[in-house]
Amino acid sequence: MSYPDEYDVIIIGGGPAGLSAALVLGRCRRRVLICDEGHPRNASSIKVNSFFTRDNTPPHELLRLAREQLKPYSSVQYIRTRVKDACRTDTGFEVVLQDKVKARSRKLLLATGLVDDFPEVEGFKDLYGKSIFHCPYCDGWEVQDKRLGIYGESSRAFHMARGLTAWSNDLIIFTDGPSRLSHKHLLALERNKIPVIEEKVSMFKGKDGILDSVVLTNGAHIPRDAIFFDRPSYQTSELPRKLRCEFNKHGGIATKKYETTNLPGLFAAGNITRDVQLVVVAAAEGAKAAFGINLALTSEDFR
Ligand SMILES: Cc1cc2nc3c(=O)[nH]c(=O)nc-3n(C[C@H](O)[C@H](O)[C@H](O)COP(=O)(O)OP(=O)(O)OC[C@H]3O[C@@H](n4cnc5c(N)ncnc54)[C@H](O)[C@@H]3O)c2cc1C
Repeated sequence: MSYPDEYDVIIIGGGPAGLSAALVLGRCRRRVLICDEGHPRNASSIKVNSFFTRDNTPPHELLRLAREQLKPYSSVQYIRTRVKDACRTDTGFEVVLQDKVKARSRKLLLATGLVDDFPEVEGFKDLYGKSIFHCPYCDGWEVQDKRLGIYGESSRAFHMARGLTAWSNDLIIFTDGPSRLSHKHLLALERNKIPVIEEKVSMFKGKDGILDSVVLTNGAHIPRDAIFFDRPSYQTSELPRKLRCEFNKHGGIATKKYETTNLPGLFAAGNITRDVQLVVVAAAEGAKAAFGINLALTSEDFR
């Protein structure tokens, strides 16, 4: 693999945000290198929903289409690699790839996404993305009016339960230990007939991706058709911290107009900013960043 002396832009992360940015930048005739490890957040999911014109498309198919549509733009290069390090240089940025090869660019776009924290409960991983979800906007429609469980505690569980009333009236919260719900939230849940079960959960029982019940440590089997959980998620990559990005109060990279960050020349798009975490929004943020990057490059080069 050979790399030109300096790219206009290196994009780290080839999910919806990174690939959308690459498309706009390719059309601006920019020399772009996309470095992508290839583990998008929704890899376990069966379909991408809530993306207009692409409702129900498998996630890997959506990304394949995006890479396919980059092919006519010969100044855009996609490589499957992990970026291990990134730093500023006098003229822009330098990244170190997993094979220790270095590449340089004038601008850098971080689109590395978030990674979810999964509970260590038997059955969770087998059912994740099929009967266990974290986003009602992505998967609520398919399980409307079904018997739904909320797995989580404290105000996060309350807000998930309240949100899910748009899709079903049959809701149970499983806090898997002390609920840590406030008195006010407990009263509101009672008013809305949403039971809270504090008994520890021993298993999500199901077969072939279909949930059958939540099994408690006291032996009870509570029939449920799907579970929504709300647990913390984290930055996938250490690079934002290494580059000394500023973070917003939600733990996302703080961005301003055109997805600029506190570092000149560094842009951030997609889930890492922790705005609305939908594919269509990640793609839109990527396009906005590309717009800002091209504008900056053009202004710098105009004599
Ligand atoms: C189970 C599940 C189902 C979902 N369903 C939907 C849905 O139906 N509709 C919807 O709109 N949204 C859905 N989402 C949300 C969706 O996954 C995200 O909004 C979207 O993936 C964010 O895009 P992104 O480009 O920011 O990050 P990602 O898609 O996570 O892509 C980031 C990319 O960067 C790469 N990367 C990270 N670090 C490095 C590094 N150091 N070097 C190189 N590459 C790196 C990763 O490997 C990955 O390929 C779902 C999420 C989950 C978890």
